[in-house]
Amino acid sequence: MRISVVYVLAALLALALGIGLIFPRVEGVFLQREQDAAEDTRRLVIEAIDQTIGRYEPLPQLVADDPVFQDLLRQSDNSGLVPFINEKLRLLAQSLGVSDIYIMDKSGLTIATSNYRREDSFFGKNFAYRPYFQIPLEGETTLFHALGTTSGERGFFFSAPILDGIEVVGVLAIKVPVDRIETAWTGSEREIIVADPNGVAFLSSRPEYRMRALAPLNDGQRKEIAMTRQYPLDLVAPLNLSASVISSGVVGVTVSAAEETRFLSISGPLDLAGWHAIVLTPFVPIRMRALAAVGVLALAITALALVGLLIYQRRASLLDRMRFEQEQRVILEDTVKARTADLDATNASLLMEVAERKSTEERLRKSQNELIQAGKLAALGKMSAALSHEINQPLGAVKSYAYNASRFLERGQTTEVAENISLISEMADRMVRISNHLRGFARQPGEKLRAIPIGDVVQKAIDLSTPQMRSSGVTVTFDPPQPEIFGIGGALRLQQVIVNLLTNAADAMADAPVKTVEIDVQDTGDAIRINLRDHGPGLAPEAMEQVFDAFYTTKEAGVGMGLGLSISFNIVEDFGGSMSVVNHPDGGAVFTVTLNRAVPMQEAAE
Ligand code: ADP
Repeated sequence: MRISVVYVLAALLALALGIGLIFPRVEGVFLQREQDAAEDTRRLVIEAIDQTIGRYEPLPQLVADDPVFQDLLRQSDNSGLVPFINEKLRLLAQSLGVSDIYIMDKSGLTIATSNYRREDSFFGKNFAYRPYFQIPLEGETTLFHALGTTSGERGFFFSAPILDGIEVVGVLAIKVPVDRIETAWTGSEREIIVADPNGVAFLSSRPEYRMRALAPLNDGQRKEIAMTRQYPLDLVAPLNLSASVISSGVVGVTVSAAEETRFLSISGPLDLAGWHAIVLTPFVPIRMRALAAVGVLALAITALALVGLLIYQRRASLLDRMRFEQEQRVILEDTVKARTADLDATNASLLMEVAERKSTEERLRKSQNELIQAGKLAALGKMSAALSHEINQPLGAVKSYAYNASRFLERGQTTEVAENISLISEMADRMVRISNHLRGFARQPGEKLRAIPIGDVVQKAIDLSTPQMRSSGVTVTFDPPQPEIFGIGGALRLQQVIVNLLTNAADAMADAPVKTVEIDVQDTGDAIRINLRDHGPGLAPEAMEQVFDAFYTTKEAGVGMGLGLSISFNIVEDFGGSMSVVNHPDGGAVFTVTLNRAVPMQEAAE
């Protein structure tokens, strides 16, 4: 903060010094420019006056040559001619654009004049004291300037002798007003003074300078002016001019008239002997303009400096921001790296976990497969007792039929022989059927899921269990659905599930008075339900929760392994279905196998 104040002060000081150094040069340029313009004005002024004089100078001689004026001057009684000549002069003055034309006789008396009608007419006035009368009397033309004694107006008086042969008989004078010349000068900032040989400002753009002496008049000059009554002497007060050098080649003039004013001054002579023109340019406005220019320059420099400062600050803050952003980026990158490392570690541990899970799953699957096999073996073990009875029974029958047949053969009773052989064949068929069922039950992994006819599969399972059911005294009722219902699964595995359920039901009803199992199949529209109800004691609440768990059993060791329902549950789950159990309100357990419904070909086609 402190430092910036010091900088600003230093900059202001430098600026002030710069302005101080540069100002005189700038002002010099402005002064020179003004002087050049003033020089042009001076030339125009001189030209205008010289032209005016050049235009009027030959006029008096031309007009004076008219013989009518000689007539007028020669006649002693000329009263008849005067009005005529007066009017002639009036018209002539009008057409020449001069203020007066008048004729004087040899005594200086005006005997005819263009202004005869005016109250302050020159008629009868004597101008013998005027040089413009005296000089033409000697035969010369002349130019005189004066403040009119009658009119009080400044004018140039051009005059010429009126000759009668070689004798001067009178003088003709033409007065030209000068204010017309001055009107052209008004409106300019510059002041113009045209001074006569006595140094009197005869013409000026500024009214208060007119008729004032540029330098005090000496006695001789005053005497001469008084004699010719050129100006009233009391009017010709000095103008108090004091000259000073402003800069090289530039002269300053201070005029103390009504107020003191300082000017640049430039002057030069006219064609008219002894006359000169002065052009004055007010000094203050020039200085002001120079100051304004330097001010504008200073402002421009300040503005530039400020813009520069602004750009510098912007750049600095931009750099700061970029640096900050760079730092932030580095921090961010570091954070990202750290997080990525964390993630990598997590990822690695996750991968490890996944691998572990996979291997666990693999192990589980393996165990499950083993269990399925074990379950099968258990079921087979259970069934083998019943089977051996089933097979022993027809074998026994076959043995006795064969014995009978051989007896009848000995006796030659062929009809009886044939009867017994057909009975043997029947028994053999029965045994083949049982063996086929067994083979199908044992062979199952790798079976594909497909649409299976549920009624048919259930019926096959019932058929397979019939020997076992019969030995337990259990009746199974089942009405296969008409038409057949299809569900998604594997036929053999579903058979295994139903056989399991039937076996359990038979076990549960060992002591029950009613030993029936009712099986029905429902089509709910999007699922197929196989309900299997027994008339056993049902399930205790804690058993409800655990029946599907592996190794859950209420049976004594060697009888049950607690695997049947667990295996069945997994099989049905593999089908995409589910298994559940409830107790029937009228007693007994109801096991339900729910399978996804398969769309039969016909239905699908529709
Ligand atoms: P296991 O028959 O070898 O015991 P399961 O998994 O087939 O193994 O059955 C587990 C247990 O569920 C049985 O021990 C029995 O207590 C019970 N259970 C199964 N079916 C029925 C049923 N229909 N009624 C009553 N209890 C049953």
